[in-house]
Amino acid sequence: MLLKGKKVLILGVANHRSIAWGVAQACDQEGAEICLTYQTDKLKGKLEQLCSKLKQKPLLIPCDVTDDDDVKHLFQVVKREWGYLDGLVHSVAYADKKDLGQPFSQTSRDGFKLALDISAYSFVILARYAAELMSEGGSMLCMSYLGGERVFTNYNVMGVAKSALEMATRYLAADLGNHGIRVNIVSPGPIRTLAAAGIPGLSKILDEVAQTAPLKRNVSQEEVAKTSVFLLSDYSSAISAETIHVDCGYHAMGMN
Ligand code: NAD
Repeated sequence: MLLKGKKVLILGVANHRSIAWGVAQACDQEGAEICLTYQTDKLKGKLEQLCSKLKQKPLLIPCDVTDDDDVKHLFQVVKREWGYLDGLVHSVAYADKKDLGQPFSQTSRDGFKLALDISAYSFVILARYAAELMSEGGSMLCMSYLGGERVFTNYNVMGVAKSALEMATRYLAADLGNHGIRVNIVSPGPIRTLAAAGIPGLSKILDEVAQTAPLKRNVSQEEVAKTSVFLLSDYSSAISAETIHVDCGYHAMGMN
């Protein structure tokens, strides 16, 4: 029960394959009370079905991260229901599919803004509101990818967004550290999810990682979730502004 008594807000569950769903299940198993958000009303029913499997009934609140009023409303409800917060998990990203398939130099201004707004800026505004509810300290984390550190074919504008997200995380860690708030990056290897399906050549990427990574396999949703629980727990109390690659060691490899 690593998270017994903790209250954790998790954004990014779309379906049972979502990395955020793995985190939600693991937090529930470890004794946390959780709050999940859904992007559109269409997703609400699916989320309610999924949540029937959890030990504790979570709070469910709508939130489109591009809408300032939605974000404000989310934290008003969290404050009213819980009064405080221990953890924030950002597992949200989006880019126009067109921008993932064409040469990077063809990225449109609107496509660039959209990807950076949803996938990077949203963590900044969420952290700002979450910090107000973390008067006793807390832990925040976001999901990034190696494509924010190095160039990967077809990752394009999402790689730029992940770079921005990672740097924003370090600035947030520096900004909020004196309130006892830790902010970290989890960088999973590729996993078959809705978001990953938008990247052309996903099967090839999964095969390449499984062949090259030191552990000679791909990572699972559960393994990313366990690392997230560690970062949300007091066992990581001196870790902030850190990137943890949960990718079977793939990030360390060069040409072989
Ligand atoms: P997913 O499609 O299950 O999750 C993406 C989530 O983003 C969805 O729940 C979607 O509703 C949400 N979202 C998109 N636009 C939004 C908006 N405007 N407002 C609110 N929510 C919005 O896919 P996933 O793979 O679980 O992705 C979760 C995170 O993990 C993302 O940041 C992704 O980049 C990252 N990640 C994924 C992989 C992978 O291979 N799957 C690898 C490394 C990092």
